[in-house]
Amino acid sequence: MKYQKKNATVKAHQWKKNGDYPGDQVYNYLDELENLQESEGKIVKKYYTKDLDDDFTVCNVCNQYMYSHGWLPYNFDGLLICPGDFIVTNPDNTYTIMRENEFLNEYESINEDYHAGYLEGKREVLESIQLISFWMSHDLSIIDNVNKLLTYILSD
Ligand SMILES: [Zn+2]
Repeated sequence: MKYQKKNATVKAHQWKKNGDYPGDQVYNYLDELENLQESEGKIVKKYYTKDLDDDFTVCNVCNQYMYSHGWLPYNFDGLLICPGDFIVTNPDNTYTIMRENEFLNEYESINEDYHAGYLEGKREVLESIQLISFWMSHDLSIIDNVNKLLTYILSD
């Protein structure tokens, strides 16, 4: 037997820094010493043991400083996000964190506007064919076959 990987579309966002995740709603504020500070993301937090690490602690996964990392609270614990990681939302609303190269090996982005335009264009062409076949043929079986073909082609 041979198996082919299923064609899967997933929702995913690349996280590079605090505030990158949709809904993070990061804002700036002045702290008690009048220094400009950035709030942490509502969804992807700042790496949670930031205070325990000095500024030179480096991640053993990505070699970047720990303070530049994110933390996604999850399942009474959380997921560490290295800068550049993709946060994949699975169909059951669980998360998978993937390194950039690992993610890009498996997925390519869909240009949703282009894809919608492509489907619309295809639909217009096929509807024209349907109309032409209707006017050119009085044979109902031909019209029926054209309709079946169009239904099949448009089903994606
Ligand atoms: Zn890292």
